[in-house]
Amino acid sequence: MHPKISLLAKLMLMQPARILISTSSSTRSSSLKRMDAIGGMNYAEAINQVGGLPFFAPNLSAEKAAAYIAQVDGLLLSGGVDFDPVLFNEAPHPGLGMVDEARDNFELACYHAARKKGIPILGICRGIQAINVAEGGSLIQHLPAFEDKHQHAQQNNDGSLFHTVVLEPDSKLAGAFGKTSIRTNSYHHQAIDRLGSNLKSVAKTADNTIEAVESSDGKVLGVQWHPEMSFERYPEQIAPFRLFMEAVQQYLNERIPGQVYA
Ligand code: MN
Repeated sequence: MHPKISLLAKLMLMQPARILISTSSSTRSSSLKRMDAIGGMNYAEAINQVGGLPFFAPNLSAEKAAAYIAQVDGLLLSGGVDFDPVLFNEAPHPGLGMVDEARDNFELACYHAARKKGIPILGICRGIQAINVAEGGSLIQHLPAFEDKHQHAQQNNDGSLFHTVVLEPDSKLAGAFGKTSIRTNSYHHQAIDRLGSNLKSVAKTADNTIEAVESSDGKVLGVQWHPEMSFERYPEQIAPFRLFMEAVQQYLNERIPGQVYA
């Protein structure tokens, strides 16, 4: 490699990886009807702790998704409201919660743009559901409708650990935690039902609820719990973020300097 090219490559690698974090929409109850994009500071703190530079994305039109993805090295799909079941061809269950059409469309477009570009994706809570819907899977719309499911919407809101999750021994996630049984918090109303294409279930609770997925190419990771709410009190919960950032670093290392990426 030419010395100047090599130096350029090194300088590029010294830039912190840019991570786009999706946001919630919130309407302010004033006469101005402001619509605000709400980001979670704890997602940004977790990404910061593993060496990434976080950016928050507002839920603009799906057409803007590719332009956002072109600017970043990784995508974090964050937690939030329920998915509209029209996206997996089901009618709304009586227990369905609030949905957000603009966010659904923007996040799904971000997912597909990120897969096209080849950058890693981490989905958290609603984010694992976004991954599954984007890959053609379906969701359980209202977990409490199933008597054989245990509680997945814990009442204490401090991120304390709530249920046991068993990890597939050969998964990247088990490698990152260094064990196959962990405890996690649980703040979800929906869960994966029919698994989407290109995804494998790598973690479950005892009631057979899917709690994590990975793609076969190792670039997509989804977890159903909220590690960003727990990692400061339970340091092992940084593991999903570290695994995600390792994939981002691998993506950056494999890029050819000077090559144009759409
Ligand atoms: Mn759970």
